[in-house]
Amino acid sequence: MKRIVKVTKVMDKADGPLTLTATDKLNKIKEKTSGYDVLWGGGPRFEVVGPWEEHVVVDVVQRTCTCRRWELSGIPCKHAVAVNWNMALNAQQVDLPETWVHPTYWLTTWKDMYSFKVEPINGRAYWPKSGCPTTLVAPNHHKQIGRPKKKKERIPRFLGPFTILEKVGLQAYRLELPPEMDGIHPTFHVCYLRKCLDEEESVIPLSEIQVDTGNRCVEEPEAILGRKTKKLRHKEVAMVKVQWKHHRGANVTWEAEEDMKRRYSRLFT
Ligand SMILES: [Zn+2]
Repeated sequence: MKRIVKVTKVMDKADGPLTLTATDKLNKIKEKTSGYDVLWGGGPRFEVVGPWEEHVVVDVVQRTCTCRRWELSGIPCKHAVAVNWNMALNAQQVDLPETWVHPTYWLTTWKDMYSFKVEPINGRAYWPKSGCPTTLVAPNHHKQIGRPKKKKERIPRFLGPFTILEKVGLQAYRLELPPEMDGIHPTFHVCYLRKCLDEEESVIPLSEIQVDTGNRCVEEPEAILGRKTKKLRHKEVAMVKVQWKHHRGANVTWEAEEDMKRRYSRLFT
C-alpha cells in the first residue's frame, strides 16, 4: 500500500509522455546528438556520420541502429535522434523522438499498471480471531554437541613391489601379480601405484594379507596398548590405543572402544 501511494505521487509529478527516468535518459541522449550528419537516399534507412567519421545505419521502420543501443534499451540512440530531427527539418512526416521510445517507458503504460484500487486494511491487532484448530510446530532440529567431527586420514599402505608387465593406455599399468592374489584384476590406475624406492620397511609381506569376499584387504589389529577416557562436554568416550598389523610407520591409533569391540570382539576376551 505504501509503495503504491508513493508510485502514484511520483506519477502525478511526471508531465511528459514518458516516465521520469526515461525522460532523463532521452534528454541526455539529445544533448549528445549535435555534430551528427544525416544522409538520406530515400526509403526508411538513413546513414548517420559522426564527428569522428563513424558511419552507422538507422532504420526508422524497423527501429534499429548499427550501434544496437536502440534495440537493446528501447530508447532511441543519438543517431536515431539525429535522424528524427533531420526528418523534421526536411519537412518529412515524423513525430517527436519520444514517440520512438518503446511503449514500456510510456507514462500511460505505467499508469495502466497502477490503475487498480487497493482497499485500506486494519492493523494486525484488529484482525478477527480464527477458530481454526491447526497448530504449527517448528521442525525438530537437533544440533550435535561438541566440536564438528574431523575426518581422520590413515597413512596409505602398499603391497608389493610388483613387476610392471605393460602400460595400458596413458594412466594404467598391468602388473605381474603372484598366485595368492588370484582373482584381483591386474590392471591398476596410476593413482593406486607408488614407485618402490626399495625401502623394505614400507613393504608388507603377502603372507600377512587377508582378503575378504569382496577381494578387499582386511585390516587386522594386533594388540591393545592402552586405554583412556576422552571427555566431551556432555559425555565420556572410552578410547583404546590399537596397534595394527601390517601398518608401517604410524601403526598405532586411538579408536573408540565400543567401535573396536563391535568389529574385533576377540581382542577383548
Ligand atoms: Zn545508434
